[in-house]
Amino acid sequence: MGKCDICGKESLSLLYARHKDYNSTIKICRECWRKAWDENKLIPSGGSGGSGGCSCG
Ligand SMILES: [Zn+2]
Repeated sequence: MGKCDICGKESLSLLYARHKDYNSTIKICRECWRKAWDENKLIPSGGSGGSGGCSCG
């Protein structure tokens, strides 16, 4: 459990995402995630494995 880094709302299902405005990985709620995604503010990450990652799509 935590708080959304954008709207400050407490949520059970926070998502981690790289945000262009914050220039780092933040926790955001689904609402803000959707909004940011629609505005093309999120940077898709290749996961936390380190190496590799699919570059398709
Ligand atoms: Zn939010």
